[in-house]
Amino acid sequence: MINIDNKSKCCGCQACYNICPKDAIEMVADEKGFKYPKVNKDKCINCGLCEKVCPIINNKNIGNEPKAYACINKDEEIRKQSTSGGIFTLLATSIINDGGVVFGACFDDNFGVHHTYCETVEELTKYRSSKYLQSDIGLSYKKAKEFLDQGRKVLFTGTPCQIEALRNYLGKEYDNLYLQDIICHGVPSPLVWEKYKAYREDKANAKTKSMSFRSKKNTTWSSYNIDMEFDNNSSYVINHNDDVYMKAFLKHLSLRESCTDCKFKKNNRLSDITLADFWGIKNVKPELDDGKGTSLVVVNSKKGQELVDRIKDSMICQEVEFEKAISGNPSFNTTSRANPNSDKFFSELEEGQDFVDIVNQCLPKAHITKKIKRLLRKIINR
Ligand SMILES: Cc1cc2nc3c(=O)[nH]c(=O)nc-3n(C[C@H](O)[C@H](O)[C@H](O)COP(=O)(O)OP(=O)(O)OC[C@H]3O[C@@H](n4cnc5c(N)ncnc54)[C@H](O)[C@@H]3O)c2cc1C
Ligand code: SF4
Ligand code: SF4
Ligand code: SF4
Repeated sequence: MINIDNKSKCCGCQACYNICPKDAIEMVADEKGFKYPKVNKDKCINCGLCEKVCPIINNKNIGNEPKAYACINKDEEIRKQSTSGGIFTLLATSIINDGGVVFGACFDDNFGVHHTYCETVEELTKYRSSKYLQSDIGLSYKKAKEFLDQGRKVLFTGTPCQIEALRNYLGKEYDNLYLQDIICHGVPSPLVWEKYKAYREDKANAKTKSMSFRSKKNTTWSSYNIDMEFDNNSSYVINHNDDVYMKAFLKHLSLRESCTDCKFKKNNRLSDITLADFWGIKNVKPELDDGKGTSLVVVNSKKGQELVDRIKDSMICQEVEFEKAISGNPSFNTTSRANPNSDKFFSELEEGQDFVDIVNQCLPKAHITKKIKRLLRKIINR
């Protein structure tokens, strides 16, 4: 039976929860807001299935020859609503037009993030754009299996650990299954997002009406804004570099422990397609950088190539040498380093201190870091 004695060895994928034949596993949030499995020993029959499907215990490596492309969705409106080049929507539309089902992460009514599925192109709007917190998978793997067994095409999208978890859960290959993961920096805690949202709502004296972690409105793709709208028609729009939630995410204060020891970031992925921001496009294919967002699309399998070929007419797409393509995106194959102040961040948050003050205390001021770097350079050059 599954037993979590080291939290960095559980990514919260919920494969164990989905597989347990006795409903003996419950996913319970810890004090940081991340969910971990808890086994009810009275119900457990020691069948071992939970350990068998765990993608950390059974981390798989494959040999493949990934190909990389720089891609842009020709539909400018969808591209604007998407994080990078809007390729997720093209892949998903292709599956839905074949009578298939698409799984992805979307906001619920309270702006929590969950995995759900949809069967129409109109519903894809809610899955567009990155939500920078861990998505709650719930029983999505079980539901995806039901569709697969009915012979429906399924596109399952998520973080690399969620994709490997689904493969382990299914335990066999399905011709009608398409897997799309992302380059993953890591996932912040849903509790941190909840507290930050409450902080912003308190300042606005209103409830959240819409939220974008990657708004391109009145700015470029690479200098994206956080854009929160409230039900009294006020808004909070700020460059991501100046927002404390994003600082905590990008400087690894709010990440899940498993994200700083990640086994899923690797060149040879178990998904069919990996999507990402094509950071560094201006050096590799400057003609595909118009500041509105370019996707890096990595094709990992024959099935992935077929899917990309099917949507080719709807996008501008050029193949790029794989090593060059990933050179601007270290999160492809390198784990995020743990921030030494992460525990302090979470414990002060638990104590109820001011969100902005906590982040500012836990992150060294940029100008001080620059001064230290200058000083070190002087010492080295002496
Ligand atoms: C937590 C997180 C970290 C990321 N880190 C990086 C990174 O370091 N470098 C990089 O280049 N790209 C990263 N990405 C991927 C990138 O932000 C885009 O998702 C990707 O480029 C696809 O963009 P798109 O324009 O094609 O489609 P979009 O419409 O923007 O993509 C939407 C897709 O993202 C999925 N998604 C959204 N939020 C989540 C979530 N919380 N959990 C799981 N899936 C989610 C949806 O299910 C859907 O499949 C990250 C994404 C997330 C969610
Ligand atoms: S060993 Fe079997 S019954 Fe027990 S928790 Fe794991 S999956 Fe459930
Ligand atoms: S990594 Fe996933 S399968 Fe393994 S224990 Fe954690 S939630 Fe369960
Ligand atoms: S960084 Fe690794 S462990 Fe964390 S969510 Fe991404 S794939 Fe999963």
